[in-house]
Amino acid sequence: MKEIRENLEILKKEANNMEENSTLLKLINVIDLLTEKVEEVIVNQETMEENIRFMDTDLSGIQEELFEEVSLEDLEEIEDEYEEVNCKHCNNPIFIEKSALTNNEDITCPYCKENILK
Ligand SMILES: [Zn+2]
Repeated sequence: MKEIRENLEILKKEANNMEENSTLLKLINVIDLLTEKVEEVIVNQETMEENIRFMDTDLSGIQEELFEEVSLEDLEEIEDEYEEVNCKHCNNPIFIEKSALTNNEDITCPYCKENILK
């Protein structure tokens, strides 16, 4: 951008020293305005890129926080291994490991202290 600016200044000086230079001067003014616009666009784009980088970092942070303790695979495994059973006595829902359900005939309810299975 600096190079374009410098060349533009040289052109302006040369055009000012020329006779019959009004068309050329108008042209240079147009280029001048375009250069300003391009500079604006570049600055905007840089700002946007920076914002996107910040957003990306924020999102990564949130993602890490969300999945730090429990991964999706872990969640699926938990769902596989546990089963919701309602206590036969108080009807409260209790999550119990499937293996515990098949291996035990007596499971104490945390709510009513009775055997949830009988
Ligand atoms: Zn119970």
